[in-house]
Amino acid sequence: MTRPGKIVCVGRNYREHAKELGNDVPSAPLLFLKPPSAVIAVGDAIVMPKASQRVDFEGEIGIVIGARLRKATREQCVAGIRGLVALNDVTARDLQKSDGQWTRAKGFDTFCPIGPIWEGVPPLDDITVVTRVNGVEKQRGNSSEMAFSIPELLSYISHVMTLEPGDVVATGTPSGIAPLAAGDVVEVELVGYSTVRNPVEAEA
Ligand code: ZN
Repeated sequence: MTRPGKIVCVGRNYREHAKELGNDVPSAPLLFLKPPSAVIAVGDAIVMPKASQRVDFEGEIGIVIGARLRKATREQCVAGIRGLVALNDVTARDLQKSDGQWTRAKGFDTFCPIGPIWEGVPPLDDITVVTRVNGVEKQRGNSSEMAFSIPELLSYISHVMTLEPGDVVATGTPSGIAPLAAGDVVEVELVGYSTVRNPVEAEA
């Protein structure tokens, strides 16, 4: 699959998820990056690295950018959306804590499963994201519950770094995150739009 030029992610964008990890919702969007080398497609295995004892799923709404957005208004950002993708922001939770910043914990190869693109702009305040592990529902959230809305996030990011066509913005995960185990199958679904399903393996 074509890899995005960059993947811009937002931490703690759902109140309940921030709470479950003992954090407050930040006063401005908390941004971080995942490397394009972490991207895998439907059916590819998520490989749990030996360096981590706890690898979590994070089901998220991914926004694919379709236009160059530089210091753009919310309206310009919405007009510049190409479509949606289901995205799993796989995270080595123990390393996220011990490293003090998130590059390693979020950046291992295979840590960014991305589903097929749904082209278009749906009602951005009513997108449902569901995560299932082995068919059992673990997370259910809706973009209406975000601390910072999708247009707000895109505009905010565009005032920091230029968003280019093909870039992906991961908009944060709802509550219900939990560890994965070898042999699991994890699925993130944007209901009506895109699904990404991946098996989980231990590093050989
Ligand atoms: Zn995340």
